[in-house]
Amino acid sequence: MGPIGHTVISSAVAGGTWAITGSPAAAGVALGVGVLMDLDHLFDYYQRYIRGKNNRVYVLLHAWEYPLAMSLIGLFFYHPFLLAAILGHVAHVATDHIWNRLSPFAYWITFRVFKGFDSRYISPHHHVMDSYRSLPHLLPFGHRIEPWFQRRIEPWFLARIDRTSQEEAASTSSDD
Ligand SMILES: [Zn+2]
Repeated sequence: MGPIGHTVISSAVAGGTWAITGSPAAAGVALGVGVLMDLDHLFDYYQRYIRGKNNRVYVLLHAWEYPLAMSLIGLFFYHPFLLAAILGHVAHVATDHIWNRLSPFAYWITFRVFKGFDSRYISPHHHVMDSYRSLPHLLPFGHRIEPWFQRRIEPWFLARIDRTSQEEAASTSSDD
């Protein structure tokens, strides 16, 4: 799910958090956590398009373990911000889990670590070109910039992928 969907869902969660806690600041925390945790995709993009690791899925902030750990802390120590962070995080991971249709354990970080962040186990239908092709669709009215994106930005990504797969092929053949 993209930033617009997460903003809508997280706004509803923020409203609920405000109602439960009576704290507008806690509502801000729920909204912030629910929207900003997608910033971890930047690390994946860096790995994929700059470092050439085409077959890895990290999304380090996306995991059920975090709200579970925060809930355990919450058993002993209550704070409205903690509850807000749990609700914002759970709503984000739950919607991604349903929306993105990855493998059933994809949103457990222990599973991803165990599988070495290998996309074949985490996102079997993942393709290295999916991420950047979806970029214009993440923006409001993104379809309007799509022709410009395809003309000016896509060649850069294609060149990166090409270069890194050539380097990979060269290093594999020299390993033999
Ligand atoms: Zn997400």
